[in-house]
Amino acid sequence: MVNEKLYEKLAKLAVRKGVNVQKGQLLVVKAAADIAWFVRIVVKEAYEAGAEEVSVEWRDNEITRLGYAHRSEASLSLVPDWVRDREAYRQEKHACFLNIISEPPGGLKGIDEAKINAYQRAYHEKMGDLLNYTMNNLGQWCVVGLPSIEWARAVFPGLSDEEAFEKLADVIFRVSRVEEDNDPIAEWKAHDNALAMYCQRLNEHQFKELHFSNSLGTDLTVGLVENHIWVGGGCTTPQGVYFDPNIPTEECFCMPHRDKVNGKVVASRPLSYNGKVIEDFWFRFENGVVVEHGAGKEAQSLDALLAFDEGSRRLGEVALVPYESPVSLSGVLFFNTLYDENAACHLALGRCYPENLEGGVDMDKAQVLAHGGNDSMQHEDFMFGTRDMKVDGVKADGTIIPIFRNGGFVIGGEQENG
Ligand code: ZN
Ligand code: ZN
Repeated sequence: MVNEKLYEKLAKLAVRKGVNVQKGQLLVVKAAADIAWFVRIVVKEAYEAGAEEVSVEWRDNEITRLGYAHRSEASLSLVPDWVRDREAYRQEKHACFLNIISEPPGGLKGIDEAKINAYQRAYHEKMGDLLNYTMNNLGQWCVVGLPSIEWARAVFPGLSDEEAFEKLADVIFRVSRVEEDNDPIAEWKAHDNALAMYCQRLNEHQFKELHFSNSLGTDLTVGLVENHIWVGGGCTTPQGVYFDPNIPTEECFCMPHRDKVNGKVVASRPLSYNGKVIEDFWFRFENGVVVEHGAGKEAQSLDALLAFDEGSRRLGEVALVPYESPVSLSGVLFFNTLYDENAACHLALGRCYPENLEGGVDMDKAQVLAHGGNDSMQHEDFMFGTRDMKVDGVKADGTIIPIFRNGGFVIGGEQENG
C-alpha cells in the first residue's frame, strides 16, 4: 500500500530540489485536473518554501480531445496574444515551472494529425523566443510524474485497477528515489554528482564522434559539434539557482552535429508522439538527414514528425543512459518519455539544447546552426539503447576510447561501471 507520506516526500522533492523554488518567486504548476489533491500538497509545500505566488494551469485530456474534434484547423491555428503575454509576464518575473504528468499514453489517438500539427505550429510561432526560457534554463523548471489508475491500466493491462495502480506507484516512487525511510533530496544530490563525474570524463576527451552498435541492427556514427559540453543531472540558472529539470533523470547528453550523423539506428522502445504510440521503427541517416525510415505501428505519425520541418529530420540530442539504470531495471514501459528516456541510450529528432555548446546559450539561432546545432519546432526523444549496446568515442586524431560496453559506462577511472 502506497502511503500518504510518500506523496508528501515526492511533493517536497519536486518543489525543493526539482524546481527549487526560491523565496519571493512565482511558481506555475501544470497538472491534470483529476490530481488536484496532489497539487494542493505541492502548492502548500511551495508556499512553505517561500514562494510569493503559486498559480495552477489545469488540463484535462477529454476537454483537449473535444477541442480537436470540434475546432477547425484554422481555429486551432489562432493562438491569442494573451497566451503569449501571460508567458512573457511570468518570465519577466523569473517564474519557475513545475509540470506534473499523470496521464495515460495515447490520449489523442484518432485525432487528425493535421489538426495537432496546425495547433503546434501556431503555438510555437506565437511563443517564439519565449520557448528559450526552459530550453536554455533561463529559469528553473521541472517535470515529475504521479501515478494514476488510467496510466496504470495502460502500463499493466492484465491486472486489476488496484493491482496495476499499486505496481505503477511502487515503480514511480522507486525510480524517483522516494522511499519511506530515505532522504530523497540527499539521494538526488549524490546522484547529480555521479552524473556530473561521467560528463566531466566525456568532456575531457572532446570526442569527434561516437560509434554505436548492437545486435538489434544499430550501426550509427554520431558526429559531435566542436566545443561540446556533456550535461547530466541538475542545471544552474543565470541567477545561480541549481535545479533538477527531470525527476527522474539518468542521462548524460550532448549535441550531435546536424550534418554528421551516418548509418542505421533501430529503436529499442516504442515512442509516444502526439498521443500515438509508434512501434518497431528505425531510421537511416546520411550526412545528418533521415533518408530512409520505417515503423511497424502508427507509421503515419512518424511520417508527420519527420515532415514537420527541416530540422525534424535531423538530430538535436544524443544521450547515454546505462542499461542498469533503475528505470531500465524496473522492466516497465511507461509510454512516457520522462521515464522511458531514462531506461536507455536515446537520440532526439529536432532542436538541440544550446547548453551543450560552449557559449551556446548566449548565441542566436543562426550562430548555433553555424556551429552544427540543429533547430526545429520539435524535440522528440526515442530510445535505442540495449543490454548489449557498445559505444566508442573517436577522438580527432583517430584514437578510439571505449565509453560503453554491454550497456554500461566503462570510460574513465576505477569507478564502477554503470
Ligand atoms: Zn535526453
Ligand atoms: Zn531530449
